[in-house]
Amino acid sequence: MRSNKGRDTSPELALRRAVHGRGLRYFVSRRPVKSLRRTADLVFPRAKIAVFLDGCFWHGCPVHHTVAKTNSSFWAEKVTANRRRDEETTRLLGEAGWTVLRFWEHEDPEAAARTVEDVVRHARLPTS
Ligand SMILES: [Zn+2]
Repeated sequence: MRSNKGRDTSPELALRRAVHGRGLRYFVSRRPVKSLRRTADLVFPRAKIAVFLDGCFWHGCPVHHTVAKTNSSFWAEKVTANRRRDEETTRLLGEAGWTVLRFWEHEDPEAAARTVEDVVRHARLPTS
C-alpha cells in the first residue's frame, strides 16, 4: 500500500497519529536520556518507553533494503553503521531502565500503535 512513497506519505506521521488516536500522549523527537545523544521518535517519559521508527533503506530493513548498484560498499557501510548504532542505542537505553520499541517504516501504523499502547498501558500498571 505504501509502495508509492510520496513526499506527504510520512510513516512517522502516520504512527504518531495512530498512537495519538489511541489516547496516548507522548513527546516527539526527544532524547529519552538527556546525557545520551540519541533521539527517539516517540517518548513516554513516565513509562520510560522510547519508540523508534527505522527507515527501510537507511536501517537495512530485511524486506525493502536493496543493495545500491553504484557505490554499493559505501551504502552497505552506512547501513551497517546505522544498524550498529541502533543496537547500541537500544542497549544503552535498556541499561538506563528504558523500554525500546522499534518499528520499520513499512509496518502498518495501526499495528505498531497497538503494540505501543499495550506496552505503555502495561508499564503503567500499579507496581506497589
Ligand atoms: Zn521495509
